[in-house]
Amino acid sequence: MSKVLIVAEHLDGKLNASTAKCVTAAQALSPEAIDIVVLAADPAAVAAEAAQIDGVARVLTVTNEANARAVAQVLAPQVAKLADGYSHVFGPSTTFGKDLMPCVAALLGVPQVSDVMSVEGSHTFKRPIYAGNAIITVEAPTDSTVIATVRTASWSEAGKGGSAPVEASDVQAELPTHSRFIGLAAGSSDRPDLQSAKRVVSGGRGVGSAENFKIIYDFADRIGAAVGASRAAVDAGYVPNEMQVGQTGKIIAPELYIAVAISGAIQHLTGIKDAGTIVAINKDANSAIFEIADIGLVGDLFKVLPELEQALG
Ligand code: FAD
Repeated sequence: MSKVLIVAEHLDGKLNASTAKCVTAAQALSPEAIDIVVLAADPAAVAAEAAQIDGVARVLTVTNEANARAVAQVLAPQVAKLADGYSHVFGPSTTFGKDLMPCVAALLGVPQVSDVMSVEGSHTFKRPIYAGNAIITVEAPTDSTVIATVRTASWSEAGKGGSAPVEASDVQAELPTHSRFIGLAAGSSDRPDLQSAKRVVSGGRGVGSAENFKIIYDFADRIGAAVGASRAAVDAGYVPNEMQVGQTGKIIAPELYIAVAISGAIQHLTGIKDAGTIVAINKDANSAIFEIADIGLVGDLFKVLPELEQALG
């Protein structure tokens, strides 16, 4: 029988929605128990949130000043120690999990299963390859703990009606001194987070310039959406790298995705494969984006977006 440990992703005392998605993935294993571990300098608030997730048996907290920032090399030895007694350890396939889980797997000397999109058996999983163009079934060794990242775009969040007990865990792990947190350089924005937003408006090369992107920001603000971009828009310097959607950017699954002046290259579509409704605005009626769009609007963005805004009243 499986026993799953999920490493909570959190920032500034708030639990990331990716953790509840990992719980849903873990439930697909029909496990005996699902525990969540919160590693932090002060885990109380995050642990209280994690305890509410349906299906969670226990929330473990590891309090350590060294855990104030999520540095993979610092967290990994602690997670590796905690892995003992669990058949599976899951983390989200976000920047946090993709950084941490391979370190945990390396410390345990086991392979890592990446991007789990479906659970076929206790050690058998499906994951996308070739930019999502093919799905592969992978089998993890049955004689060791399964260390895996969960593709968050493929799973919905588990509900929030639970009340799991929170237990302090005393982990005796030697922490490295070669890697430590020095500083964080990040853009700040009042807009919704691109990776978890329910609505996203993305602009492509056709927007034409950084200044022109204002029309995308304004429209996004009007409908309470996050803003994304194609790689061509990022490479052209219209927007920062963190806004890139796609194979080498962010994989997102909003309920509504509006692609403005984006041609629909496969590497971009990989990032929106799990989006709900896809709306495309493009002046070229033959653009590939219209092949996957649920709603297509052929027209010049500088005419269409103001009209749409007006129609919203
Ligand atoms: P274009 O293909 O140039 O399309 C611009 C579109 O804007 C056109 O369809 C045009 O008709 C339309 N347009 C122009 N003006 C207007 C207007 N006024 N009104 C309305 N429509 C207008 N791309 C990504 O996006 N994300 C990735 O993660 C990514 N990873 C990659 C990884 C690899 C290994 C490689 C090789 C490529 C990757 N790419 C990625 C690049 C990808 O192949 C495309 O080059 C890119 O997505 C194109 O961006 P675009 O659609 O904005 O630009």
